[in-house]
Amino acid sequence: MSDVPCIKTLTAVPTLDDLVARDRDHDCEGFGKHHICVKVEAVADLPTRFGHFRIVAFYNNRDGKEHVAIVHGDVLGGQEVVTRLHSECLTGDALGSLRCDCRDQLGVALTRIAQEPCGVLLYLRQEGRGIGLLNKIRAYALQDGGLDTVDANLALGFRDDERDYAIAAHMLASLTVKSIRLLTNNPRKVEELVRYGIEVRERLPHVIPANEFNLFYLETKAHRSGHFIDFEGKPHVAEQDEPIVVTPSTNSPVQP
Ligand SMILES: [Zn+2]
Ligand SMILES: [Zn+2]
Repeated sequence: MSDVPCIKTLTAVPTLDDLVARDRDHDCEGFGKHHICVKVEAVADLPTRFGHFRIVAFYNNRDGKEHVAIVHGDVLGGQEVVTRLHSECLTGDALGSLRCDCRDQLGVALTRIAQEPCGVLLYLRQEGRGIGLLNKIRAYALQDGGLDTVDANLALGFRDDERDYAIAAHMLASLTVKSIRLLTNNPRKVEELVRYGIEVRERLPHVIPANEFNLFYLETKAHRSGHFIDFEGKPHVAEQDEPIVVTPSTNSPVQP
């Protein structure tokens, strides 16, 4: 619990709408090494093709980024809230790219959460594992030339796995969630959230069938990034790219 900052002002409120007034003057020392602090700015209804949710919009007062929580049921003060962290993927989520499985991951997670008594999907605005849209497309170009997803990121001077779950941890704290069941195949995500003081009661596997375009990418994540996936004769694959705050390495062969 030593990494958990002062969150005394993130007090319990009766409804999601009350979070806006509670957070109006919120400012804390922040979560993680980048001292991430977010506050709730707006809350609204969000009917979707996956179910009926409420959307909670957060402002990140360190770098100005905006993030949202898609909430189903009463998560305030909730125990064992089914939780999914999803990193923004413009090409996958919005354009239906088959180079990754982000859109399927998003849809399956929202469908699942809509069926739970209480659940939340944190939609984190960290495109391309935090390297940004342009660098993600640059990495795609390198992959077109034969590199795998890990080597392509390394070639651009980014580490494959430099993730920071501080934003997600603060968002859960802001929502006064007491404990979660995390929908993920990534064991590191559980460890990191626990380090930020989030009580993770259970890891729920999240598997989506591969397609012919992303199978290699997903196998790479399974074999090189330590995700829990079973390829034994089954087209089951890893999860989407998760939030990564990327730090350029010192021996970058390509300047992004
Ligand atoms: Zn804060
Ligand atoms: Zn994607």
